[in-house]
Amino acid sequence: MPNLLLTNICNRNCPYCFALAQIEAGTTRANWEMSWEELETILSYLNPHVDVVSLLGGEPTLHSKFKEIVTQVSNKGYPIKIFTNGTTASLRGIHGIAPHDIRIILNLNMPDTYNVKEWKQIETNCMLLKDQIALSFNIYKPDFSWEYIKEAILQWELKRSVRIGIAQPIKGMNNAYLQEKDLQPASSRLVTMAEDLAIHGITLGFDCGFRACTFTKEELGILAECGTHFLFACKPVLDIGPQLMTWRCFPFSVGPGVTLTDFSSLKEVERYFTEKWASIQKKGNTDECGECRNMQIASCNGGCLSRSFIKTSFQM
Ligand code: SF4
Ligand code: SF4
Repeated sequence: MPNLLLTNICNRNCPYCFALAQIEAGTTRANWEMSWEELETILSYLNPHVDVVSLLGGEPTLHSKFKEIVTQVSNKGYPIKIFTNGTTASLRGIHGIAPHDIRIILNLNMPDTYNVKEWKQIETNCMLLKDQIALSFNIYKPDFSWEYIKEAILQWELKRSVRIGIAQPIKGMNNAYLQEKDLQPASSRLVTMAEDLAIHGITLGFDCGFRACTFTKEELGILAECGTHFLFACKPVLDIGPQLMTWRCFPFSVGPGVTLTDFSSLKEVERYFTEKWASIQKKGNTDECGECRNMQIASCNGGCLSRSFIKTSFQM
């Protein structure tokens, strides 16, 4: 399901920021917010009670009408997922609105990257919203630690699952991302993390862009035993921003996307992006991808398409 970019304003400065192209655009263009009319148009492409509305940014809770948007989208019958940095007071404004239909994915960086006020806001939000919140953790260097993630989940009684993202390069942007040489060591460390968290009944769920071959067969077996929801996918996500501009996903949002209303359905937009870059995706991230059985049976899409672009120096 698509991501709705409510605003490009953000109060944080994560080194790996996926939305950097949009955030940076805000420094040269006026900051933007999605209008209610744009939101309604997007909703007309979705089915209430079935399709999940994912709210992102920037920091979506900084949209001046955040609470109203959540209330109205929920009243229309859509389940909602909010991707937030958790540091704003407006996040807790949604407390009590359809708690079974609203999930919050709170991205938690290392505690020493927050000031006292920000950490206090995170704590207050977590203690109020409890297991409506699942933490998210983004890997952008191989020597990461997760003790604080474990402590936060147990202490604040959050949902016992963690979304794991892998930081990817955004062409033309200087964001931090996991370098090729670090993919394998980081994968092994992730397996250790999964084992440690499994002791507390906490499971991991992979986001897009992981590669099957950065794990050994034994490591994949351990991940499965730990209840990890792993996938090795790279498919069009569809990020929809101002003026209904729609991109395949964040790494491709440096340039212009397509306009949603030029298409009759989201499936059509997905097909457009899939076909547009099919030849690059077939090559995958590694020299082995073309002949790989995982690629042939589609159990691995060959890693992040953005890395394949950079590898082939192909113009987006
Ligand atoms: S190119 Fe693929 S793996 Fe990379 S961010 Fe987009 S969907 Fe995810
Ligand atoms: S498709 Fe490519 S990235 Fe995926 S497992 Fe095969 S060789 Fe590795």
